[in-house]
Amino acid sequence: MQEHFDAVVARNPGETEFHQAVYEVMHSLGPIAGKRPEYAQWSILKRVCEPERQIIFRVPWVTDSGEVEINRGFRVEFNSALGPYKGGLRFHPSVNLSIIKFLGFEQIFKNSLTGMPIGGGKGGSDFDPKGRSDGEIMRFCQSFMTELYRHIGEYTDVPAGDIGVGGRELGYLFGQYKRITNRYESGVLTGKGLSWGGSRVRTEATGYGTVFFTQEMLGTRGESFDGKRVVVSGSGNVALYAIEKVQQLGGTVIACSDSNGYLVDENGLDLGQLKDLKEVRRERLSAYSSDSAAHSTEGSIWDVKCDVALPCATQNELNEEHAKSLVSNGVQAVAEGANMPCTPGAVKVFQESSVLFGPGKASNAGGVATSALEMQQNASRDSWSFEDTEARLEQIMRDIHTRCVTTADEFGLEGNYVAGANLAGYMKVADAMVALGV
Ligand code: GLU
Repeated sequence: MQEHFDAVVARNPGETEFHQAVYEVMHSLGPIAGKRPEYAQWSILKRVCEPERQIIFRVPWVTDSGEVEINRGFRVEFNSALGPYKGGLRFHPSVNLSIIKFLGFEQIFKNSLTGMPIGGGKGGSDFDPKGRSDGEIMRFCQSFMTELYRHIGEYTDVPAGDIGVGGRELGYLFGQYKRITNRYESGVLTGKGLSWGGSRVRTEATGYGTVFFTQEMLGTRGESFDGKRVVVSGSGNVALYAIEKVQQLGGTVIACSDSNGYLVDENGLDLGQLKDLKEVRRERLSAYSSDSAAHSTEGSIWDVKCDVALPCATQNELNEEHAKSLVSNGVQAVAEGANMPCTPGAVKVFQESSVLFGPGKASNAGGVATSALEMQQNASRDSWSFEDTEARLEQIMRDIHTRCVTTADEFGLEGNYVAGANLAGYMKVADAMVALGV
């Protein structure tokens, strides 16, 4: 596989995050070459590594003070073998083509693992929403959609949210799509508000799904969340709803973080206060107030002793040293709520110390799976109850867990969720690509 990987690097110079994502998948495909050589052919791999379409566009918009700003917009339509391209939009200053390609590449296999008919794509912009007024956010979203609308559609490409893109942004994006096309095409975006075509549980889905997946992993060792000390990094949408589900399952979440530091409350975090801070007041964690809580800007959240760690902030936030610290403090399970938050070195540490490790493309697939449920509801002009939708999400996460376990077993890699997820996700996509011809 090394020469194939080198060829991908040579073809995509400087795209380090994309290389990391390709390496991670190709590395797991080694066992295929021995047992199922038909899947390991370079003719399939080189097609999988090349996006079907990459769109880069100018996004001009006007600030409140009348200045013209320019950002760059991206949509990478990576693979449509299993269905329309599906994946979120990220608005963050770090966004560049390499990051969008890494996220899009991951999305292909994540979406495949869900068992739903969705291909893989990703998009976004280097726009920084921090400190921007509501009017500025709206004008930016309208300008972004003024170009994006011609590339998307219910049967073509269905974006959703990701970092920096939540319900408010999706509303402005959908409004502009509707205005330009004069069509109320609910199925063109997911993560919509409940009053305009959204699905119940979509907001909660990534966080809830990560916890359901971790619950399944713990179950293989006769354990559960009950009585566990849990650390969740981040305090955005994924983190908040992971915290909620852990608490419902009897665990205590003692720490979370934002880009300025982390908060530890040995008595368990007050979720009501966190939601108010982050979702309503849009403030920093340092504004959290409790006698038992301490906010810290020194050290790392991963030095906090816990039984379960759920990295739910951003890519490469948990490195090898952090992993060693977690292991020496007795962590039993780690599951990725964010996309690729653990560096390759950290994953190796977890695997070598037999910590249960859930890779993001399996453990955080609940978000996109619920997006696919939203597409189903839109297509049938239906709207399901919270209980029904949550039960479907839980079953999907159980099925993904089973798929990872049985595939890893099939290749003699018992307990290796990384290999199980990569192999199962990849084989389904490869089957469809071969069937559809070159
Ligand atoms: N951004 C989420 C992810 O990384 C959700 C994508 C979607 O719902 O399309 O999977």
